[in-house]
Amino acid sequence: VLGIGGLASILIALFAGLFLAKRALVPIQLSWEKQQQFIADASHELRTPLSVILVNLERLFRSPERTIEEESEHIMVSIQETRRLNKLVGDLLTLARSDSNELQILKQKVAMDELVQKSVHTFRQLAVVRGIEIETDIQQPLELNGDQERIQQLLVILLDNALKYSNEQGKIAVSCKREGQGITLVVKDNGIGIAKEDIPYVFDRFFRADKMRSRQTDGTGLGLSIAKWIVDAHGGRIRVESEEGAGATFTVWLPAKHG
Ligand code: ADP
Repeated sequence: VLGIGGLASILIALFAGLFLAKRALVPIQLSWEKQQQFIADASHELRTPLSVILVNLERLFRSPERTIEEESEHIMVSIQETRRLNKLVGDLLTLARSDSNELQILKQKVAMDELVQKSVHTFRQLAVVRGIEIETDIQQPLELNGDQERIQQLLVILLDNALKYSNEQGKIAVSCKREGQGITLVVKDNGIGIAKEDIPYVFDRFFRADKMRSRQTDGTGLGLSIAKWIVDAHGGRIRVESEEGAGATFTVWLPAKHG
């Protein structure tokens, strides 16, 4: 019963988040069709975890003779789906705010070498469990003018994907170097890669390659569209090269000074 109480409060917080997300869904740069598509896709993505939570809570509520194991299973599934919803709402808020120019890109001094090292360090701990190695080649010092928090978010998206779409015992290589009037960051993995016909769409909102859906990886299909927004807002460029089955390489160039 305590479990249900806890879940209920998480759900209330979530619906408050959803309400805010809906209020913020007034992108001023998107065409009417794109807005409609965004709302339709968002609703569709939100409905799936909500339905799973509802079914699990109803089962908890309606079957008086459930075992402790069954109870734990329903609660665990509900928690997992609530986490997914939470991430989805957070990503939707970021995109909605970026559309309406509510998000400011700060111009701070960012020590890129340190930031990349720090992010890789966090992911190494997750990688090691799956026997995945992360190599680095980072020039020092590397400084740019930008928004530290957003650049860290970009690193997390790229590293998280590299890890998510790697096979066990895979290899990830991260390099960061000066190039022209800016810095080039490369995140390369030797994982499952992206099919040729899917490559043009990976930066689109809600795009997930079909195979990925079936692999049940934890994702929203919004990460790379947020990554692209962050890079564009800094006046940089992002591109991907990939071959199915042979991994993917994401290359980002950020200017040392922007704006
Ligand atoms: P998701 O939450 O699904 O990872 P993203 O927007 O970050 O969403 O990525 C969109 C899609 O691009 C993914 O679903 C996956 O199909 C593909 N993708 C992204 N990064 C990689 C990668 N490193 N290797 C293979 N496929 C990738």
